[in-house]
Amino acid sequence: MTTSDQELGHAQPQPSDPGYETYSSDWTAEWRKDVAERTRRARADGSDMHLLIKAHIDACDACKAQNGTEADPDSPPEPPVSECTSSRGCVCTFTSKVVMA
Ligand SMILES: [Zn+2]
Repeated sequence: MTTSDQELGHAQPQPSDPGYETYSSDWTAEWRKDVAERTRRARADGSDMHLLIKAHIDACDACKAQNGTEADPDSPPEPPVSECTSSRGCVCTFTSKVVMA
């Protein structure tokens, strides 16, 4: 069995960004579509894709405690860690792990 990790890097909008209120929901919807597409492609190959929370380097303790936790790729949580206590809002990302058939 081969696995490959791929960071789902993205420029997550921050609450301090101009227009944050307007475009954060669009961004989230786009991002979810992208994850769903990756999941679909992996499954079409007979593989499976796991989505793991990757805590930000400056993440709060609640987020760090969730680092490496699996999330549902069919419904990725936003923010990644709902218990996040950071004043900037959760800045964690996800890593995808494709498990080859
Ligand atoms: Zn976080």
